[in-house]
Formats: sequence, C-alpha cells, structure tokens
Amino acid sequence: MTPPVITDLHPSPPIVSSGLTLSIVIPVYNEVESLPLLLDKISTVLTAHDLTYEIICVDDGSTDGTTDLLTRLARCRHDLKAVILRRNYGQTPAMAAGFNYATGQVIITLDGDLQNDPEDIPRLLTALESGYDLVSGWRKHRQDDKLTRLLPSKIANNLIGKVTGVKLHDYGCSLKAYRSELIADMNLYGELHRFLPALAYIEGAKITEIQVNHHARRFGKSKYGLGRTIRVMMDLLTVFFIKKFLTRPMHIFGSTGLIAATSGIVIGGYLTYLKLGLGQNIGNRPLLILSVLFFLTGVQLFCFGLLAEVMMRTYHESQNRPIYRVRNVISHGSTN
Ligand code: UDP
Ligand code: MG
Repeated sequence: MTPPVITDLHPSPPIVSSGLTLSIVIPVYNEVESLPLLLDKISTVLTAHDLTYEIICVDDGSTDGTTDLLTRLARCRHDLKAVILRRNYGQTPAMAAGFNYATGQVIITLDGDLQNDPEDIPRLLTALESGYDLVSGWRKHRQDDKLTRLLPSKIANNLIGKVTGVKLHDYGCSLKAYRSELIADMNLYGELHRFLPALAYIEGAKITEIQVNHHARRFGKSKYGLGRTIRVMMDLLTVFFIKKFLTRPMHIFGSTGLIAATSGIVIGGYLTYLKLGLGQNIGNRPLLILSVLFFLTGVQLFCFGLLAEVMMRTYHESQNRPIYRVRNVISHGSTN
C-alpha cells in the first residue's frame, strides 16, 4: 500500500469557517492543577473563532481531587461534560469512553496536562476541512526528555511508519482531529489510541499531519516511562496483524502450517526410504526429530488458523463489548 501524501500545512492561516460541531475529548488522570487552566484556554480559543463545541473530560480514576473538581466544573459549565470512570483504565480506554459520549461532527483529542496547545485546534480544523478525515499533530519541537522519550519515540515512529504504511513524524502526539464517523468504525484496545491514524488508514481514511506547539509539563509528572516502548511495540504487532490478516487468518496460519507439515512429511518419507529401502538405522538421526516437529507444528498451525477464522467471524458479527465501565456522567448540572 502506498502511504498517503503528507502535506505540511504549517503555518496555514487560521481561517475557520465552519458550521461543524466539535467535541474536544480529554483523558485526565491526576491533572488537578492543569485542568481549570486548560478548560479556560480551550473555551477562549474556540469562542474567539466562533466555533460550536463541547468538551468531554474523561476522569480516568484520578486520586488527586481531579474527580471532584471535574464534577463541580461540569455542574456549572455548559460546555463541559464529565465522564468519570470507575477506576484507572489507561489513556486508550479513557479516550474510547470520551469518543462514546462525543456528539460533534469532528472529534479533537488532546492531553489534559497543558502540553498540547488549544491554539492549534483551529489550524487542525482548517486542515481537516481541506479534505482530510484525520489530521495528526506533529510536535516538531517536543519538550520532553531527550533520552527516555524523544529517542525511543523517533525509533518507534519510523518503525510504525514502515510496518503500517502510514508515515507520520509523531504518532504519539495526542492532539489530533478526526471526522467522527471515522471513530465510530473503530474499536480501541491496549494502547492502540496512538495507532488510530494507521487503523483509520486501514478503513480508507485520508490522513495528514501539521506541526503543532508543545510545552513542557508545568504540573504533576508524566504517567509513562520507558516501559511504554515495549507495550507500543506489542501493539504494533497487533496492528500489523489486523492490517494484513484480520479478515483472513487462515492465509497466514494455514499456509505456514501447510508448509511446515509438508516439510515434515517429506523428511519423514526420506527417512522411511532410508529405513525400509536401504535398511539404515534412523533412530538416532536429528532429522527424525525435525520431521516430527515440523509435522506436529504444521498441523497445530493449521488448526489454529481454522479456529482464528471462526473467532474472526464472531468478532465481526457479534455485539461490541465496551472496554470500560462508566460510573456516572455529569452534564448541564444533572447527574445520571
Ligand atoms: N492519562 C490517562 N490515564 C492514564 C495515564 C494518562 O487518562 O492512565 C492521561 C493524562 O492525564 C494526560 C494524557 O493521558 O492527559 C497523557 O499522559 P501524560 O501526559 O502522562 O503522557 P506524556 O505526555 O508524558 O506522553
Ligand atoms: Mg503529557
């Protein structure tokens, strides 16, 4: 698959026409100091551009008072909906919860720690309106630790680009804009939120990226360390599998199984000839073990492929099961 043409639209003029409604989705986990400043900044920017918007803050099991603050704010602010999760699920499920409550035609995601800049939202929207389904932010001047964050992220971005065919500079940037119908088609698991552009591309979306601002964390600390790199790599394998074989698992498992089993049979046939035809002793030949190993592995892979086919059909045809449980939702002063 040819990667999409990535046009750098920076610095495009912030002309925002649009009658489009926006949902700003923010997952928050222990961001009590940043949150009020962030919400004020978002509403200042969006009101100045005359945009119709709602903010959906998903509290991901915070323990620092974020939950109370968010509950209070959602009761008095008409532009804010607070979704409080029962416990800490992680950024991806929190985002998925936000998507579920979003009603806008365009969904913008950003972090709750003030590292992304709401000033960039109008530019994302302009890019989206120029004919894209998804606009991803690129933190060209990223304000994070060089060794533990920037280097692993550079390697990961390169690898993800190669494997998925969608070459973006910055998969990890949360600031992204999506047409909401795109989100409706996608289910998120693991830490797959960062792969949304790749998943969207699989769904046929047009994707671009623009440079966005990035600020150093002012309050609290990052929720992630180096361990995330490994999880991202595992997710990359999943995305690779989804992209290539989700709808046809038998092609990969069946064909490798067939190759292995056939090799086992051929080697076994050769050994049988040595034994029965030439009367040689084969009991101590490593080839015998290889033959058995190939044959058994082959049969197993083949059966696994059949099972995967059945599971894939169930996956596609059954009801979607949410990956989170919401305790309550507060909006416009009411709780339900
Ligand atoms: N976050 C979350 N649940 C988690 C971890 C993080 O909702 O379990 C939120 C966090 O509050 C922030 C965003 O995800 O709004 C990104 O987290 P962080 O800033 O720690 O990541 P970094 O910017 O260091 O990559
Ligand atoms: Mg951050």
